[in-house]
Amino acid sequence: MEEIITNIHIHTSYSDGRKLHREIAEDAIKVGLDAIIITDHNIYVKGFDGYYARGDQKVLVIVGKEIHDKNRIPQKNHMLVMGINESNARYAKSPQELINSINAVHGLSFIAHPYDPELPAFSEEDLSWEDWSISDYTGLELWNNLSEFKIRVSKIPQAIFYAFFPASLAKEPPIEIRKVWDFLLAKGKKVVAIGGSDAHTLVYHFGPFKKKFFHTVTISRPSITIFWLKMN
Ligand SMILES: [Zn+2]
Ligand SMILES: [Zn+2]
Repeated sequence: MEEIITNIHIHTSYSDGRKLHREIAEDAIKVGLDAIIITDHNIYVKGFDGYYARGDQKVLVIVGKEIHDKNRIPQKNHMLVMGINESNARYAKSPQELINSINAVHGLSFIAHPYDPELPAFSEEDLSWEDWSISDYTGLELWNNLSEFKIRVSKIPQAIFYAFFPASLAKEPPIEIRKVWDFLLAKGKKVVAIGGSDAHTLVYHFGPFKKKFFHTVTISRPSITIFWLKMN
């Protein structure tokens, strides 16, 4: 069996990340990834799909997007979508209509960060998924690196620790999401589980120091990558 090491759920400067597709592809090549999936917020950036090479190494870049209703407060119900070729964001207000529009073009839809509590120390809102009446989606993000950070951190010193030891953040999917997944599987639904890095290359300043968080490289080590897959 061949293992394909993939980093799913990455943001570029086209939304709220800090790097562009080529830079992220080069980071991915450095750490030996086979593929990356870019998912910018509410924007489908055309023209970047394909292989990027450096010497005899290459990485496949796939462009999807992360869609949510920007008018909703708080801005919950984020959905990762792949295999689309047009703007589906106009359906964001209704998650079920969004899923239907993605299925119509045989795309994939994953509930992003289903459990994602607030983190007041960093002014981060609760962005958990709310609308559980939906059906016919592909799966859910059983693990999301940024969510795990929000779950494990309550004070700045903890955040600094994880900034320097990012691998210690990838422990396990939260029990809240595992319970939801179990519940859905027990009902006989096919729900594919993925792990998402939610890489943004955020830069935080601690006094005179600055440190990158959620960098594609630091969260792409094979030891913490990222593919729980379970087909029913
Ligand atoms: Zn999101
Ligand atoms: Zn995201």
